[in-house]
Amino acid sequence: METPALVLPDNTKRLLLHSCCAPCSGEIIKRLASSNITFSMLFYNPNIDTGKEYLKRKNEVVRFANKLSVSFFDLDYDNSEWVKRITGLEKEPERGKRCTACFSLRLEMTALFARENSFDIFTTSLGISRWKDFKQVCLCGYAAAEKYPGLVFWDHNWRKNGGSGRMEEISKQEKFYRQTYCGCIYSKNKSF
Ligand code: SF4
Repeated sequence: METPALVLPDNTKRLLLHSCCAPCSGEIIKRLASSNITFSMLFYNPNIDTGKEYLKRKNEVVRFANKLSVSFFDLDYDNSEWVKRITGLEKEPERGKRCTACFSLRLEMTALFARENSFDIFTTSLGISRWKDFKQVCLCGYAAAEKYPGLVFWDHNWRKNGGSGRMEEISKQEKFYRQTYCGCIYSKNKSF
């Protein structure tokens, strides 16, 4: 069955995709490209526990972005603000308050980058994983967009219409590095 082409909502024109990793982004990148939507990607994930792991995940996203000629930006790996935001929430379970703080920071920085670089809409790969609470991700996205009048958070559910299945297929086809934990040190003992 052919997947229907996507159309940007609210008459927006310039999309920024926040990417958390290659396995979660592959299907989204392909879907946007096949819908002829022009977009750029931003890698901002200060939640990742080590610089080595950060580079491993980032390099996989860069490899795929280059393959599909998608422009790519990344922000420095500086986790001091992330540590500040999650302090006191270390023992929270996944999908709890620590994850809300983590999503909020990543999407707030994405919204700021979008505004400073003339994007009028942004979305994220965070919600495609079945390990994440899609609604929790969206609430953080709406709050981040609200800070900038006219900026839209695109709450498209990338899991739907076979998205989850294609995400798995593309990951296998592209032989993406597949991490076994979400990213922060606190998620390390709770491998997927
Ligand atoms: S489990 Fe994942 S989403 Fe939650 S705080 Fe850690 S890195 Fe962020």
